[in-house]
Amino acid sequence: MNRPILRIAICTPLYRSFDYLAPRDSHAAALHAGQRIRVPFGRRTTVGVLLEVVEHTDIAVEKLKRALQVLDEQPVIAADIFSMVSWASRYYHHPIGEAFAAALPVLLRQGQPASSNPVVAYRLTAAGRDIEPNTLARAPRQAAIIAALHSAPQGVERAALDVPASVLQALTGKGWIETFTPDSVLHATTTPDVPHALNPDQQRAVDAVSAHLGEFDAFLLEGVTGSGKTEVYLHLIDQVLARGQQVLVLVPEIGLTPQLVTRFRQRFPVALAVLHSGLTDRDRLNAWIAAGAGSAPIVLGTRSAIFTPLAHPGLLIVDEEHDASLKQQEGFRYSARDLAVWRARLLGVPVLLGSATPSLESLYNVEQQRYRHLVLPERTGSAELPGFHLIDVRQQVLQDGLSALLLKQVEQHLASAGQVLLFLNRRGFAPTLMCYDCDWVAECRRCDARLTWHHSDGRLHCHHCGSQRPVDTRCPQCGSSELHPQGQGTERVEQALAERFPDVERLRIDRDTTRRKGSLDRLLEQARVGQRQILLGTQMLAKGHHFPNVTLVGILDADHGLFSTDFRASERMAQLIVQVAGRAGRQDRPGQVIIQTAHPDHPLLQLLVTRGYPAFAAAALAERKAAHLPPLTNLALLRAEATDAAAPIRFLEGIQARIRQGGGTGVEAWGPVPASMERRAGRYRAQLLLQSDQRADLQQLLGGLVRELEKSPDTRRVRWSVDVDPADTY
Ligand code: ADP
Ligand code: ZN
Ligand code: ZN
Repeated sequence: MNRPILRIAICTPLYRSFDYLAPRDSHAAALHAGQRIRVPFGRRTTVGVLLEVVEHTDIAVEKLKRALQVLDEQPVIAADIFSMVSWASRYYHHPIGEAFAAALPVLLRQGQPASSNPVVAYRLTAAGRDIEPNTLARAPRQAAIIAALHSAPQGVERAALDVPASVLQALTGKGWIETFTPDSVLHATTTPDVPHALNPDQQRAVDAVSAHLGEFDAFLLEGVTGSGKTEVYLHLIDQVLARGQQVLVLVPEIGLTPQLVTRFRQRFPVALAVLHSGLTDRDRLNAWIAAGAGSAPIVLGTRSAIFTPLAHPGLLIVDEEHDASLKQQEGFRYSARDLAVWRARLLGVPVLLGSATPSLESLYNVEQQRYRHLVLPERTGSAELPGFHLIDVRQQVLQDGLSALLLKQVEQHLASAGQVLLFLNRRGFAPTLMCYDCDWVAECRRCDARLTWHHSDGRLHCHHCGSQRPVDTRCPQCGSSELHPQGQGTERVEQALAERFPDVERLRIDRDTTRRKGSLDRLLEQARVGQRQILLGTQMLAKGHHFPNVTLVGILDADHGLFSTDFRASERMAQLIVQVAGRAGRQDRPGQVIIQTAHPDHPLLQLLVTRGYPAFAAAALAERKAAHLPPLTNLALLRAEATDAAAPIRFLEGIQARIRQGGGTGVEAWGPVPASMERRAGRYRAQLLLQSDQRADLQQLLGGLVRELEKSPDTRRVRWSVDVDPADTY
């Protein structure tokens, strides 16, 4: 090859790659797909990923620019990730350059070397172990360090020691402490816990997966809350580690990582690489490298951790596989769960999807025998599943959203020293401010949405665009001063509880109480140890957490999901109810769940509370089949938005017409319709739903469409996006 041409993915919204001449000093034999290359791009330089080396290009050779530098000796994008990203970029119809950028840690995207900065840690020397911290009264910061290292014989990372370098230098100078490089990212620190002897259901699940270690197979582990799913993971991880292989564990929420980290560290004295958005870019890169080098046998992370390289992959686990957070909702709209299955197949390793409330997609895959079904029908030990009671709020006087019946139960559980969890998926004080004289309500100026009144700062907030303003004192429409908050959010319920139970300690968890870094962990920990008797919160409180002392769960408003325009709403409502309810009675005391609803006779709700999630899911899946909805068919959503109110619909009508003309492609286009909240942050939004029984038909249509749309002059005024397998269709 005399003139190698580099085909490079560059992070732009364009659906194409870019061709360059190889850098002057490069050797063809040293060029590999997956390496990062620095290239001139427009007026700047940028970092791209080498897709392939070719001999011919359609661009005249004299017009080709020359790439500047090959940044990596070895590809930073491992072969399996290279294939996965390439495939996902086609499947989700997302520009290849942005897809590769999403797969790389920020520092690598910026062109920094793919090497980890060694982690520096400190420990006591033999001389230092003889020093009593209280003899250092005149040097309190030195005393604190000595004390901290006394209680951590395995050493403490520099980053965790909150003192200036001079303090550490002084102690090093005295020969009391020394630095060392821990050979892992995170070490076991606590007293190890002992594996539970598995019950027969758990054992069957472990055996089923372990029989397939070393080959691809997909498993759905459906276990009621508290049935010991995590214990099943731990036993399997143990086996995988014994084979010298790595495990990748994905969770939907950053809030779920600390408790898993704790359990992993208690069980396995090995390095653990953790990847989520709460880390510094440097820590994230270090963890990514430890995973790729194989020095971290366990890799745990949120959605984008699916792109973490693994030197010796042995097993992929997706916990809470039903959770919508596993699907990216903007930009590169991939499903981390679906990519995990794809990657496991490519790697030839098993993938285990776990949930108490599996998605209908996964249950359908079980039905189609694509996934093996592993079931844990009972809670471990003596814990029993809670009993459900529906309260018909139409026949109750509610005070601040709380019925007398529910309050009475709260009282009783508190009296018998139980912990109470109340769930309301709405933050703020009241979702509406209303004029009693003329029915005016406070609305956002930029969105088709009402403003929520927040008591804490006395302002009206829009939960959709973030804008806020002072609370009106007079009605802007009629001048009346009869403005009153309508409905309730967590702030209002908290206030009501404070008045009703003044001596009981409460804890509220929602986005407003957890803004500061680390505050969610701290609050969850307080909730877990049972210091607070009443826990109140939004779904942040509901997911996957283990609160051993909760005996009563109250769901203040279950109706949101019953009559939504989104076909997945009832599935999500059921999952949320079961997950929240699962917080009750996890130890030796029986739990109780009370659901306030204005529709106690709703058939799906009835099925859920009388016969449980599996019966609900079977009925909901049957409804989907009858209505010809996913997972029985394939969907994609074309979204469009613009500041001009008419433009998005007009744009999508044009696409609709083109699809009709094309004819016989096996794809139906529904709409376009305005989004259910048409105006958001000052932009008007509309959508066109594409549906097809054959995935290939839909893919082919979308492939042609994005290429056309990219060139369309309309796209200067209208922003559009494609969402394949959308998690939400409103
Ligand atoms: P899940 O992940 O399904 O919610 P966990 O694995 O967290 O369930 O288990 C719930 C509780 O039961 C935990 O406290 C766990 O230590 C305990 N547990 C799990 N398996 C067993 C077992 N076989 N015997 C006794 N206790 C168990
Ligand atoms: Zn008015
Ligand atoms: Zn708004």
